[in-house]
Amino acid sequence: MTAPRMPGKITVRDVAMRDGVQNLKRILPTDLKVELIEGMADAGIQRIEATSFMNPKAVPNTADADEVMRRIRRKPGVRYEALVANLRGAKRAIEAGCDGVQQVISLTDVHNRANVNRSVKQSLEEMKQIAGVVRGAGILFCGAISLATGCPYTGRVPEESVYDLAGKYVDLGVDEIFLCDSMGMGDPARMGRMVGDIRRRWPETSLVVHIHNTRGMGLANAFASMQAGAATLDASLGGLGGCPFAPGASGNVSTEDLVHMLWLMEIETGVDLDALRVLAGKLAEALDTPLFSAVHQAGKSFEKSPVPARLLVGEDERTIQDVDGLAERV
Ligand code: ZN
Repeated sequence: MTAPRMPGKITVRDVAMRDGVQNLKRILPTDLKVELIEGMADAGIQRIEATSFMNPKAVPNTADADEVMRRIRRKPGVRYEALVANLRGAKRAIEAGCDGVQQVISLTDVHNRANVNRSVKQSLEEMKQIAGVVRGAGILFCGAISLATGCPYTGRVPEESVYDLAGKYVDLGVDEIFLCDSMGMGDPARMGRMVGDIRRRWPETSLVVHIHNTRGMGLANAFASMQAGAATLDASLGGLGGCPFAPGASGNVSTEDLVHMLWLMEIETGVDLDALRVLAGKLAEALDTPLFSAVHQAGKSFEKSPVPARLLVGEDERTIQDVDGLAERV
């Protein structure tokens, strides 16, 4: 085991309004999306995947992509990005004023066909054209490696195939590689190893780690990725983003849980956790279902609960102090 090399600062990139909403049965109102995106920017999130430019029949919840991009108040210094699957989507994203475009390709043909209706080879061919138009527009172009840990149809995915696709992305001139544990099948050993290998092989290309918490390993995978040198992590407000292949499973790792862990670890994020919690509350209210967000459910560490009245009888100062001390310890 090598010595930990935790970065002093982490960029938390929120994907709730794209990855989070895409599997929701109910359509989230555009007004709420705009409010949450603006709220996250005000809370200090500097990169927001605001929507996706996909076929609205396939992804009804981002059918309002153009409207969302048009309506959001842009905060200086914040990047508003979008996911695309094809050239048409990329052109729409550029037209809508996105600051970055991420093209996603799955590692297995079967999933890529299910997801974007193309073979991996066809998607890579199209990527050449997409790279041309996106880079021509002068905005960030990213390649996402979906299913970097496993496929719901074929099972385990060899790590070498991840590096093979990453190499192709680099050859096509991506600014950034996204390593996506799309199904939440990644474990901390593998995630740390893959992050380390990608950084060693392509040190000039930046890396984003996209983490799902489907099987409860989200924060452990975030920790392992950071230890291996990842400096940008994806997460989703309220842990929004269930998986259609695993009904009832949680979605992306929750942004407030990740920011909370980083706050405890004294790693800088520039994000106001309390402001995020207010936004998660608004989301929970709108969805009328519990969120997969531990901090939303349990509150922040060290938040003091009111001392039970029976312990305060007689206003005994010493008793109150003891109770206060106990509350600090447990
Ligand atoms: Zn995802």
